[in-house]
Amino acid sequence: MDQQQQAHVLLFPFPALGHIKPLLSLAELLCHAGLHVTFLNTDHNHRCLTHLQRLSTHFSTLRFESIPDGLPIDHPRNVQLIGDLMFSVKSVTKPKFRDLLADLSTKSERPVTCVIADGIMSFAIDIAKELGIQAMTFWAFSPCCLWSFLCLPELIEEGQLPVRGEADDMDRMVKGVSGMESLLRRQDLPNICRRQLDDPIFQFYVEEIKAITQTSVLILNSFDHLEALTLSYITPFFSRIYTIGPLTALLTSRITHDVLQSLSSFNNLWEADRSCMTWLDSQPLRSVVYVSFGSTGIMTRGQLFEFWHGLVNSGMPFLWVVRRDGIGHIAGVEGEHAIPEELHEGTKERGFLVDWAPQEEVLAHQAVGGFLTHSGWNSTLEGIVAGVPMLCWPTIADQQINSRWVSEVWRIGLDMKDTCDRSTIEMMIRAMMKERREEIIMSMDRIAKLAYDSANQGGSSYHNLDKLIKDIIKKI
Ligand code: UDP
Repeated sequence: MDQQQQAHVLLFPFPALGHIKPLLSLAELLCHAGLHVTFLNTDHNHRCLTHLQRLSTHFSTLRFESIPDGLPIDHPRNVQLIGDLMFSVKSVTKPKFRDLLADLSTKSERPVTCVIADGIMSFAIDIAKELGIQAMTFWAFSPCCLWSFLCLPELIEEGQLPVRGEADDMDRMVKGVSGMESLLRRQDLPNICRRQLDDPIFQFYVEEIKAITQTSVLILNSFDHLEALTLSYITPFFSRIYTIGPLTALLTSRITHDVLQSLSSFNNLWEADRSCMTWLDSQPLRSVVYVSFGSTGIMTRGQLFEFWHGLVNSGMPFLWVVRRDGIGHIAGVEGEHAIPEELHEGTKERGFLVDWAPQEEVLAHQAVGGFLTHSGWNSTLEGIVAGVPMLCWPTIADQQINSRWVSEVWRIGLDMKDTCDRSTIEMMIRAMMKERREEIIMSMDRIAKLAYDSANQGGSSYHNLDKLIKDIIKKI
C-alpha cells in the first residue's frame, strides 16, 4: 500500500450546518486525491443528514461515523440555545471522541493518521495529540473574525468590551486590533463581543482561541489575495497556515462538472426545492434578489414583515428562503399578525418562496442580480464565487465583521447592520440593484476573478491544497 492509500483523515466539524458544509467539501477533495476519510458527525446530525451518506457511493474512501452530542433527543439545538450545544459537546462528546479515536487508531485495519477538527473544538486536537496523531485545526469562520478574536485579550485589557449597544457606543472606532483601526466600529465586532465578559459563551470563545494558537497548524477557507493584510497578522500565531478557499471553487476546479452535478442532490445539507430554478429561468437577466439568512438564522415576525414589505416595495423580483424552523408560521395567522393583502399580491406578482434552495446554483443563475444575506462565511464566499453583489443583514457569530469587510474592504456590497425597517430595506435593495450597482460590480468582478484564479491550477489555494495533502501523507 502506498502512503497515499495509508493516509486516513478524520474530519470533525462543530455540529452546525455552516461548520459541516465546508468540511464536507474538504472531505470530498481529500477523497478525490485518494486519501481515506472518516467524517464524524453527532448522532443527531447523522440522523438528520442521512442523504450525505450517499456521497460514499461516489467517493469509495469516504465513510461516516457519529457520536452523541449529549443533548436530549427533542432539544431544538437552535441558535438561541447554541450554548447548550457548545457545553454539551465539550463535556459529553469529548470522552466519546477519545474512545472512538482510540478504537479507530488501534483496532481499525486503517488507523487514523490525521485529525482535522473544528476551531471551536480544541478538545479534539488535544486528544489527537495525546494519542500521537497528527492534528490540524479547521477555522470555519472568516479570517478577519479570527484576527479580532486573537485580539480579545488586548480588547479586554483596554476596557473596550463588552460592546454596550447604545447608539453612540456602537459607532465608536475599536482600538487594539492592528490593521483595523480606521475600519472597525464597535458594532462590527463579532457578536459575542456584545456579551458580558463573564458570560459563559464569551468565555468559551476566549478559551477556544487561546487553545487554537497552541495547536499550531491552521486551515482556512479563504484565499491569500482576499485577506493578505489580515493573514499577515494571523500568521505569527501559527507554525503553518493553509489557505484553501473558497472550498466550493476548489471542488469545481478539481472535480468534473458532471460528477458534481450527479452529487448535487446529496451534497446539499437539506433537500433543496428545485422548483425555484424553473421560476428563475422565467426572470429577466440579473433582475432577481436572492434572499437567504443561512441555516440557523432566526428573525421575529416583526422583522419578517419589514423584510417582506421592503422586498415587495423595491419592485424587484425576489426569491426568498423562508425556513420553516427559522421564522415560524408564515401563513394562516389571523388578526393583527395576518399577512397584509399587498404582500400577498406583490409576492404573487414578483416573488417566490422556498424552504431551502440549492444556493450555489441559484447564485450562479443568470437571473440573479443581488444577494440579501446574513453574511455567514459560507454564503459570503459563495456570493464572491458567483460574483453577485450583496446586501448584508448580519445577526450572529462572525457575520457582523464579515458584512463590514464586504462593504468597506472589498466593496462588493452594502451593510445594513442592525437596521431592519422596510424603507431602509427597500432603499438599500434599490441601491444594490441599481444606483450603486456599477461601482459594486466593478469590485466584485475583480474579487470574483481572484477567487477563481486562487482555486484553479497555478493559484494559491490550489497549490496550498496540494501542499496540505502532501504534508498529511508525509507524516505517516
Ligand atoms: N444554504 C443552502 N440553501 C439555502 C440556504 C443556505 O444551500 O436555502 C447553504 C449555503 O449555500 C451555505 C450554508 O447553507 O453554504 C449556510 O452557511 P453560512 O456560513 O452562510 O451560514 P450559517 O448557516 O452557518 O449561518
